[in-house]
Amino acid sequence: MLKENLERVHQAIDAACKRVSRDSSEVTLIAVSKTKPLSDLEAALDLGELEFGENKVQELVDKYEHIKSPVHWHMIGHLQTNKVKYIVDKVTLIHSVDSYKLAAQISKEALKKQVDVDILIEVNVAEEESKFGLKTEETLDLVREIAKLPNIHIKGLMTIAPFVDDPEDNRMVFRSLKQLSVHIDSCQIDNVSMEILSMGMTGDYTVAIEEGATMVRVGTGIFGARNYNV
Ligand SMILES: *Cc1c(COP(=O)(O)O)cnc(C)c1O
Repeated sequence: MLKENLERVHQAIDAACKRVSRDSSEVTLIAVSKTKPLSDLEAALDLGELEFGENKVQELVDKYEHIKSPVHWHMIGHLQTNKVKYIVDKVTLIHSVDSYKLAAQISKEALKKQVDVDILIEVNVAEEESKFGLKTEETLDLVREIAKLPNIHIKGLMTIAPFVDDPEDNRMVFRSLKQLSVHIDSCQIDNVSMEILSMGMTGDYTVAIEEGATMVRVGTGIFGARNYNV
């Protein structure tokens, strides 16, 4: 089933790219493996996946220690400052930076461990109460401040769009994030690039790609439904 799922997702990515004349190589698939056992990750690895997304520090660290192959780990969930130290030297990208305080902690721990950490700024485009992330209008000022910190590099923006039945309902959310990234890019801030746009999940990643996503985070569509009660 995993093989078929992955094939279907890759085909859908290719088709979405084609519709808007983008090259599939511009879009990176993050296999969101949260709650899934190591055996699922290993199976995906065998099928050629190298980018894995986790949303909990403890789970990411456990999996990091057990998967011996050099895969790329993406922290996609809300991150508490006191847990930053466990992951700064293990992750390829932190997608969920939503405050100066968190960025400053990442910078501090990165300096201590002598590593450089790439991050995305999480924007709550739809301004949902239940979600983390900055408001669109706060983002540029925060980017300017975070950009001054050592050992941390802003590579783009991330958003978690609302849960909707019709993915078309999220098109404007994705378009707004893209517009914000173009605006920030035009400000030419030192130590800031807007090369990554992390948006789109199982329900809406093809729409996100049509609107410019360079990273899509797909869990259910690859690994099947999650069971949180185990
Ligand atoms: C769980 C999660 C995903 C994947 O969600 P699916 O709907 O299963 O594809 C993507 N991004 C974030 C931040 C998540 O927490």
